[in-house]
Amino acid sequence: MTTQEQLNASVMPTYGRFPVVIDHGAGESCADETGKTYIDFGSGIGTNSLGYCNAAWTEAVCRQVHTLQHTSNLYYTKVQADFAQKLCEITGYEKVFFCNSGAEANECAIKLARKYSFDKYGKGRHKILTLVNSFHGRSLATLSATGHEVFHNYFFPFVEGFDFVTANDIADLQAKLDDTVCAVMLEYIQGEGGVNALEQAFVDAIFEACEKRDVLVITDEVQTGVGRTGTFLAGEQFGHKADVVTLAKGIAGGLPMGACLANEKCADVLDKGSHGSTFGGNPVCCAGGLAVLETVSAPGFLDGVREKAAYLREKLASLPGVKSLSGIGLMIGIALTDKKAGDVANAALEKGLLVLTAKDKIRLLPPLTISKEEIDKGVALLADVLAQ
Ligand SMILES: *Cc1c(COP(=O)(O)O)cnc(C)c1O
Repeated sequence: MTTQEQLNASVMPTYGRFPVVIDHGAGESCADETGKTYIDFGSGIGTNSLGYCNAAWTEAVCRQVHTLQHTSNLYYTKVQADFAQKLCEITGYEKVFFCNSGAEANECAIKLARKYSFDKYGKGRHKILTLVNSFHGRSLATLSATGHEVFHNYFFPFVEGFDFVTANDIADLQAKLDDTVCAVMLEYIQGEGGVNALEQAFVDAIFEACEKRDVLVITDEVQTGVGRTGTFLAGEQFGHKADVVTLAKGIAGGLPMGACLANEKCADVLDKGSHGSTFGGNPVCCAGGLAVLETVSAPGFLDGVREKAAYLREKLASLPGVKSLSGIGLMIGIALTDKKAGDVANAALEKGLLVLTAKDKIRLLPPLTISKEEIDKGVALLADVLAQ
């Protein structure tokens, strides 16, 4: 029996998988069971932010596994304290809640926003506006928050109290931002939705309108955060600091970790007993996360990300078959002139290059540590595919 057959026999068929069994990796490349290597421009959907088995990260994680793999949140651990302190220092947020995924981080943000409003204004002000074409996760609440009609199927009844604003439509925002709204939740760059950055004027309008009404702004930086766009948070480039920001994907270098950060205004809204997670803030994941934070916040690292992003983008823009590029930094959408993104991804795999797709675009989320040589090699493979 092949690994594919073995897995398909026992794992629920929820994923469309590429026909390859990834076995091991180092740096920007991984290898399958047969030893064939692949340059990874997807980094496990932006999770392996430092590439495969980065030395400092591996060291930190292994040391922690040998010391203390887990205890519950009934007790304190030093590594959780260190990770939380560093994360708050880097981002300028007051406090964090740790969980294990992007959906859970958003779930926490939704609960926080509703309780903030309930504590201050009582019942009936619980609606959360999100954007059409957004993606916030697969739990029932975050699916309800996700602005795609196709996701609002099968699992009825969905969680009430969400409404959807058309991205970049300020009039629609103003029409829907009424007295029942407690928060607006957005991705600065809609990732799953096709790597589309929001317009500055629309983001400005959201922050201005929410400030006036004491409505919280939640930014879902699960995909855009932790250096992906060339700044630690993408919000820095839009000149805004949300009340609540959620992180996951790249935050712990490939270990399950989600974080919901809150500013002074709402850092203590989720009080004792109002939220929790058995695994949240797990010591091993915190150790991995701390290694990521130490790397990403080191002097010059984010300058390097921006420089590499500019280098990669310039190369991509000149490839035949590329219509336009979107996104910011190392979060890149590639619109194609005539080829289908899915076909390109399959052909790239064949050639030894892993890429992602988002809607009708190719999506690249290479490790933040990628070298120019690996960029050159990957782009050459993609050029071959596009020329076919
Ligand atoms: C991936 C993603 C999520 C969901 O994260 P999970 O870890 O899969 O739950 C939520 N929001 C955004 C913007 C994402 O990209």
